[in-house]
Amino acid sequence: MSRVEAVQERLRDAGVDGLLITDIDNIGWLTGFTGSFAHILLSPDGGAFITDSRYTIQAEEQVRGLPVRSFRNPQTILDVLSEETARAGVHRIGFEPSIAFGTWQKWTDAMPGVNWQPVTDVVEPLRMIKTEEEIDAIRRACALTDAALTHVERVIQPGVSEYDIGLEIEFYIRRQGGKLAFDPVVAGGENSARPHARATERKLQVGDFLTLDFGALLDGYCADLTRTFVIGEATPRHEEIYGLVLEAQVAAVEMMMPGVNGRDVDAMVRAKFGEKGYAEYFGHGLGHGLGRVVHDLGRLSPTTDQPIEVGQVWTIEPGIYIPGFGGVRIEDDIVVREGGAEILNRYPKDLRILPAR
Ligand code: ZN
Ligand code: ZN
Repeated sequence: MSRVEAVQERLRDAGVDGLLITDIDNIGWLTGFTGSFAHILLSPDGGAFITDSRYTIQAEEQVRGLPVRSFRNPQTILDVLSEETARAGVHRIGFEPSIAFGTWQKWTDAMPGVNWQPVTDVVEPLRMIKTEEEIDAIRRACALTDAALTHVERVIQPGVSEYDIGLEIEFYIRRQGGKLAFDPVVAGGENSARPHARATERKLQVGDFLTLDFGALLDGYCADLTRTFVIGEATPRHEEIYGLVLEAQVAAVEMMMPGVNGRDVDAMVRAKFGEKGYAEYFGHGLGHGLGRVVHDLGRLSPTTDQPIEVGQVWTIEPGIYIPGFGGVRIEDDIVVREGGAEILNRYPKDLRILPAR
């Protein structure tokens, strides 16, 4: 069954007779299109891939499984959508709630006979189970991310600013044909107590934790890796916190077996931190789905009922963040196999003390 057919099958269960897909990542996954603008109108047995004249040639080359319709000035996307919904005879159309409210108002004004129904998670649950081809793409993104980290390690020393480290990461990844999957976290010293700190002009000092969280986006797929280093000299406090996060991270990766509930993996980590009095210093979830976007569908957290299945790709990223001192996060990307988790990145995760040169 093709991806388009798999979504068409789910349409019936969603209680609509058509689906308008506007999320460009869903569109890319469904059809292979890599451009930035398209809509797909699906009915249970047909549909159309709609784009504008900037992408006519590209869409004809790339799009699989749907007829391509492109439009040009003075026609607008609204004109084409009105025609295509009338042609397909759909009246109850599902749409992705991520659409802007203003856009939805334009649709409802232009197509008064259509009953619009927000539908969540029609395409995304299918995207959660990756093919081997997709897993290989994520593995390549991870390899580039590992290489960037090995490269940037050489410039890390006291006196270097977070900005410089962030730029070095970006240069390296772009030079190899990738892009940043997201704005990197580069956080030294007390900044590392902020889980999503962005780089600042702060210069590294001996005794800092330095957390780097970044990923390459390569061939349409993302990596997401975090490592925390110590600069110059580690105290027993550094070692204790790092050791606890590492132990929890390794145990969580081992627990990611098919049939397990992700909520229980998250709870195991929180219990481990709690035993040592660190529970209050871990505020975010344990991990998230990873794929065409860095936060793909799926969360490992206390509030999500999340069955773990073969073919899913997850990040596992526990952290402990102590205000005024610093924080540690260790993040790997894993694919769930029959026998357990396979880690897709290679960069070591034992405590590394980078020399104060
Ligand atoms: Zn990350
Ligand atoms: Zn992450």
